[in-house]
Amino acid sequence: MSISIPSGGHISYAKKKLWGTAGKVRGLKVHYFAFDEKEMNIDVDGTAKRVKKLAKEGKHIKLFIMGASVFLFPEPVKEIREIADEIGAYIHFDGAHVAGLIAGGKFQDPLREGADVFTISTHKTLPGPQGGTVLSHSKYAEELKKAAFPSTMSNHHLHLVAGNSSR
Ligand SMILES: *Cc1c(COP(=O)(O)O)cnc(C)c1O
Repeated sequence: MSISIPSGGHISYAKKKLWGTAGKVRGLKVHYFAFDEKEMNIDVDGTAKRVKKLAKEGKHIKLFIMGASVFLFPEPVKEIREIADEIGAYIHFDGAHVAGLIAGGKFQDPLREGADVFTISTHKTLPGPQGGTVLSHSKYAEELKKAAFPSTMSNHHLHLVAGNSSR
C-alpha cells in the first residue's frame, strides 16, 4: 500500500498499469492509502477501513510505503504502525525528498516513529552526488545487505563514495 501519484507519490511504488517499479518490475499488487485532500495527508481512519475491506477480499497488505515525492507535512507513521502491527505488515518510509530536513531535525523521525526501513536519496535535500542510502534497525541488517548485493547491484561507485564522504 502506497500513496498514489496524484496524492504526491512516486512512480517507483505505482501500479503495473502505470509502469511503476513496484507493480511492473517487482510484480507487486499495489493499493493506495486513503488520502485526505483537505489535510493533504494520509487519512488514517479511511486507510484502516480500506485495509480491513481488502482483507475481507483476501488481499492482505504486507508492506506500507510511506513518504512521497510531493508532501508538505509529516506523515502519520505511528498511527500506520498500529495498523501494520495488527496485520503483521512492514513499513518502509521513503524519505528521498525530505532527507535533509529529517537529518536537520526539522521534519519527522521515521524509524523512531515505527518505520522498519527508511530510504533516502543523497542528491535532493542532501546536496551530494547521486545515490541512495538504506537506514534501518540492526535486526534487518543482514537481509538488507543481501538485498543490496547480490540481489540488486554488484558494484558500488567509488567516485560517489568519495564525493559523499568528503562532505
Ligand atoms: C526521487 C525519488 C525517488 C528516487 O530516488 P533516486 O535516488 O533519484 O532514484 C524515490 N522516492 C521518492 C519519493 C522520490 O521523490
